[in-house]
Amino acid sequence: MGGGPAGASLGAYLAGAGVRVALFDSGSKPDLVVGESLVPAVVGFLRKLGIEEEVASYSTLKPGATFTMPRNQEEMHFRFDEVRKAQITYSYNVPRDRLDASIRDAAVRAGAALFSERARVERAGQGDRVRLSDDTLEQTGGFLTEQPDLVVDASGRSRSISRLLDLPTEAGPRRDTALHAHMEGVELSREGHVHSSILERGWSWRIPLPGRVSVGIVIPSEFLATFGDTLEAQYDAYLRYDPVARGWSEHAKRITQVFKYTNYQLRSVRGVGPNWALVGDAFGFIDPVFSSGMLVGLDSAFELSRVVLDGSEHAFARYERHVLRHLGNWYHAVGHFYDGRLFTLFRVGNFMRQTLLGGLMEPHFLTHLPRVFTGEATHRRYSVGLLNFMCEYGLARNDPAELAVR
Ligand SMILES: Cc1cc2nc3c(=O)[nH]c(=O)nc-3n(C[C@H](O)[C@H](O)[C@H](O)COP(=O)(O)OP(=O)(O)OC[C@H]3O[C@@H](n4cnc5c(N)ncnc54)[C@H](O)[C@@H]3O)c2cc1C
Repeated sequence: MGGGPAGASLGAYLAGAGVRVALFDSGSKPDLVVGESLVPAVVGFLRKLGIEEEVASYSTLKPGATFTMPRNQEEMHFRFDEVRKAQITYSYNVPRDRLDASIRDAAVRAGAALFSERARVERAGQGDRVRLSDDTLEQTGGFLTEQPDLVVDASGRSRSISRLLDLPTEAGPRRDTALHAHMEGVELSREGHVHSSILERGWSWRIPLPGRVSVGIVIPSEFLATFGDTLEAQYDAYLRYDPVARGWSEHAKRITQVFKYTNYQLRSVRGVGPNWALVGDAFGFIDPVFSSGMLVGLDSAFELSRVVLDGSEHAFARYERHVLRHLGNWYHAVGHFYDGRLFTLFRVGNFMRQTLLGGLMEPHFLTHLPRVFTGEATHRRYSVGLLNFMCEYGLARNDPAELAVR
């Protein structure tokens, strides 16, 4: 259920391995979809799907990320080809409608049957088994004549199965609103880089796409509401109000309407049931800041495909643990961004590398810490543990609150 990146890539892997797959996609999406900036580890999945060249043809090459720090507006540039032991040294910024279409086409080429319909799921009996509604089966025109062995919820933020079964969830701590639009004439300091700037309240993203820049502002909801009655009024007024945002948007022009996202920090504490599984955002989403969503979606789809082919209960339990750990690792990394520990660590690191001990330790840190953010080491206990340890104990008595996102 759901032909976004998670559902469609799962469909591609399974159909390619000979499984009979019905892929439903309701097509109900806003004109602009967030998820345009990809971390390098996503490129591995584009290769597995055989679509990297196609995606490259309509995307912007993304060689790194630039962060503007709070208070003094110091810029921190992070190039993927400078990451020690990196296996993938670049990524892409993508128009999401085209990327989604490329993945769906890959699923169809692999043999999945695509139905441009909304699938409906119901409880089957008293327990937590589910079934597709009769009209959903009918919509397949005879492709599904009986209930499938497994129903996968890839419905994104619709979270169809979680809502149906009222599965427990964990919400993140932030109460932000993200407003998103495309603009022309936005200033960027590094070509192709995703730019994230800490603003007076909240933060912003700038994602260079072919011919335009995706600009998002992520602001505490109650504060944003004071900037106007419509989304467009709030977006335009906030860009004019904030001194950092004004600096790069002064000569820019918004060329689309504005789209809004709220309450997105949400993950289910369960990911599998007797005849169902969750994948992608339907399982959980942490936060936009490090562009982790597409990676979690594509990675969970790949893992789930292996588990389905294995078929054992044990394998499904392993899948659930894998995704919960992946989401949990991003959760902590994102927390270090908002509470100022990550920026503090970066500043301490700049100072420490000039000392003898710091110079000796630097290659070790540079092997592990950046790769958590490129997605290559977000599953590695040691790398994630080292990041968490350093953010807790490596701040040399500096107060991280000074660099926190307010
Ligand atoms: C503000 C914000 C910014 C973000 N920025 C980034 C970023 O820069 N980089 C990044 O990697 N991630 C980002 N993300 C996350 C990213 O957008 C998602 O993680 C990603 O889209 C998840 O893919 P998915 O396939 O799970 O779900 P979706 O992309 O939401 O796809 C779900 C699909 O299911 C369909 N559907 C829903 N219900 C049904 C149904 N009942 N039957 C049939 N079809 C159905 C929908 O129409 C849709 O096509 C951002 C998220 C937010 C909130």
